[in-house]
Amino acid sequence: MTERFLRYVVIDTQSDPASPTCPSTEKQKNLGRLLVAELQAMGIGDAHLDQHGYVYATIPANTGKRVPAICFCSHMDTSPDCTGQDVKPQIVRDYRGGDIVLPGDPSQIIRAAEHPALASQIGHDIVTSDGTTLLGADNKAGLAEIMDAAHFLIGNPHIKHGAIKILFTPDEEIGRGVDKADLKKLGADFAYTIDGETAGHIEDETFSADGATLIIEGVSTHPGFAKGKMEHAIKIAAAIVDRLPKNDCSPETTEGKQGFLHPISINGALEKATVGFIVRDFTDEGLKEKEILLENIVKDVMKGFPRSTYRLEIKPQYRNMKQVIDAHPEIIDNAMEAIRRTGLAPVKGSIRGGTDGSRLSFMGLPCPNIFAGEHAFHSRLEWVSRQDMEKAVQTIVHLAMIFEERA
Ligand SMILES: [Zn+2]
Repeated sequence: MTERFLRYVVIDTQSDPASPTCPSTEKQKNLGRLLVAELQAMGIGDAHLDQHGYVYATIPANTGKRVPAICFCSHMDTSPDCTGQDVKPQIVRDYRGGDIVLPGDPSQIIRAAEHPALASQIGHDIVTSDGTTLLGADNKAGLAEIMDAAHFLIGNPHIKHGAIKILFTPDEEIGRGVDKADLKKLGADFAYTIDGETAGHIEDETFSADGATLIIEGVSTHPGFAKGKMEHAIKIAAAIVDRLPKNDCSPETTEGKQGFLHPISINGALEKATVGFIVRDFTDEGLKEKEILLENIVKDVMKGFPRSTYRLEIKPQYRNMKQVIDAHPEIIDNAMEAIRRTGLAPVKGSIRGGTDGSRLSFMGLPCPNIFAGEHAFHSRLEWVSRQDMEKAVQTIVHLAMIFEERA
């Protein structure tokens, strides 16, 4: 398991939001080709990399029962926020507690006080980068776990299971992970992304998300002759932003199941200004409430500018996958049981963001997220433990068995 992981993290697969191509960076295919070669070597004949950089593979069913085809999915790219070139992983064996100073840059310290999850890792082997790059456990831990589970299932044919589909995607970190996913070709009934954090956790909920664009048309005149005439679009926009809730409903004042209304851009001149917002909540009603709140603020501010006008455009981005997953309770029940059989206590949670799974769910493939063990992702302090990765492998294997048992 760990050898696989170390083989994958040294391949640079950083994605690039500025690139229009798919995959956004050609180098992601280097890892795709290696994964396909390893799957082929295991005897998975249909494993292939397509022209968009997606890897597909099938472990055929070995049971006479009718079992749903389940897919395990991870992403091959790493975050554009932190360099992934020349990753030099190191292993801290038998972690005894305390801070971990990274050898390539001693200013990079994984402090026990700032990473409370380390407290439950005593005795584990912890993999980190050398401190000059990210590690890429997000999501190469997931790749290695799925690969290792596949290897185990193929080597142990007495373990009965339905068809297991494998999907490795590019460009998840730039929000395009499922743009070119061919679900018909994949042919799965349910899927699980293996891309979560703490061992034992499963997430069946994401934010629901809208984007809002406010366009303000002011009244422009020569500044020397503006008295009583000018209505300044930039000033109207600023007044609106200033009226947004300050003690709640913003990213910096919310947590857990609370949503927010968040300005992400402001552009303008005297005549016209545009403010971009993102709106987040776990329910559609919560989204609606925040959009009404925004419109009420806008209307109120506009009263002071009677000859100016505005337009508010709301665009749906993604929806809480729970709406889809709840219709198939066995997806979560079976995963909770699989986690339990590894000896961990399952914990169900929600994600304050979106995943590939939230989009896959609404494309017709219900897809919660299972832990991969990755921590402090998108940073040079990223770490993962060997023991947690092994628990994820066991979870995948148990899940395959449970679907067969219960069919
Ligand atoms: Zn990820």
